[in-house]
Amino acid sequence: MIIGLDDTDSRDGMCTTYLMAVLIEKLEAFGSLQDYPLLVRLNPNIKYKTRGNAALAINVRLNDANDASKVKELVIDTVEKMAVFSDENTNPGIVFIEIPNESLKNDLSKFSIRAVQDVLEIREAKELLERHDISHRGFKNERGLIGALAAAGFALCGLYDHTSELIAYREKKNWGSPRNIDEDSVWAANAATYPDTWDTVDIENERIVFAPHSLDPILFGIRGKNEESVRRAFSMIKSEPIERHIVYRTNQNTDMHLIPAKIHEVQEDRSYILEGIVSKSPKTITGGHIIFELSEDGASIECVAFEPTKGFRRIIRELREGDEVTVFGSVKDNTVNLEKIRITRLTMQELRNPVCCGKRMKSMGKGQGKRCEKCGGMSKEQAIEIVPRRISPGFYEVPPCARRHLAKPLIRFSQS
Ligand code: ATP
Repeated sequence: MIIGLDDTDSRDGMCTTYLMAVLIEKLEAFGSLQDYPLLVRLNPNIKYKTRGNAALAINVRLNDANDASKVKELVIDTVEKMAVFSDENTNPGIVFIEIPNESLKNDLSKFSIRAVQDVLEIREAKELLERHDISHRGFKNERGLIGALAAAGFALCGLYDHTSELIAYREKKNWGSPRNIDEDSVWAANAATYPDTWDTVDIENERIVFAPHSLDPILFGIRGKNEESVRRAFSMIKSEPIERHIVYRTNQNTDMHLIPAKIHEVQEDRSYILEGIVSKSPKTITGGHIIFELSEDGASIECVAFEPTKGFRRIIRELREGDEVTVFGSVKDNTVNLEKIRITRLTMQELRNPVCCGKRMKSMGKGQGKRCEKCGGMSKEQAIEIVPRRISPGFYEVPPCARRHLAKPLIRFSQS
């Protein structure tokens, strides 16, 4: 039986991964997991998400097929007891897949990937559930059925690229208090296991980034290549007592959300890989964000490196009109929120006002030409000059402290 779950938490506490971890323990009496529990990240731009748009699924082999309805009751009961129903934005969904077939697999493989790359309606999830007669339970507006069905779909069809995350949960009495984690042990675990684990610390920004600061039950999460790597790092970390821990298989850090596209095809709330030419040089806007315009075939879009991307902005600031780049990121308000950039070619020439009498000539206004302030000489043309560049072609990414769950770190490109 595949069980998919979503949308049980609120910003004030709880976490669907914790609910699943508790459920896994309860289900031990009825059977065993057939594979790793699945933690999938869906479209990161969905406005209804609480934090990271996570959805969960497990595949349980029941000891006795006659227990199916007891298991369903147990799952529904656990969600009813643990979900934060008081939050208007919490709309839990539970999906049970019992008899998979090819037609269901076919439909779900498309639905699940759309949940990561596209924006779905609750109606679409319900139509699929009804068409294939899939047992399910939706609460309140039933939005959680979208994520629950998508996660169940990945459990049924598999994830092509995947990573692992070991999540350690806090003892209940500590929820809400500052997390007690020995920082030296975290740096040591990173040094011993990187690059098989990643995003535990941010070296450039001198921060530990694997622990949230929110009220939820998560103490920390270790991301890595496989179970062995995350367990090795885990064994080195000293911290407050851990209530339980789980190793999930995930689509995190795989770039599954990115759609290769042309600028004119871009839609709001989706994430893309776009090639183009820098058509307006970067400028710094209020808040320390850096913004430039990218164009291709007559279509243009603004790209932004937000302030939290820290040192990444140094690269973006150095771009010039004419540079050839490929950008990776999500589109919100018709602007690409940059996660990575590949600089393919840097222009080495720039059009500038000519130099006269040892000084650069001044523009007289639109269509008026340029004038030397010293001798009064005029010029209509701009001069082509070779510009020194302080960046090189290459692939650049935001630092770990600004990484989105789905974004694939550069270190993984050399691993696969
Ligand atoms: P947390 O990370 O803390 O577990 P969350 O960020 O996962 O929380 P949810 O509370 O699960 O957020 O809310 C996200 C809601 O959006 C869910 O109801 C889910 O079904 C729905 N959803 C997820 N992906 C899509 C999508 N692509 N289109 C439409 N709705 C979606």
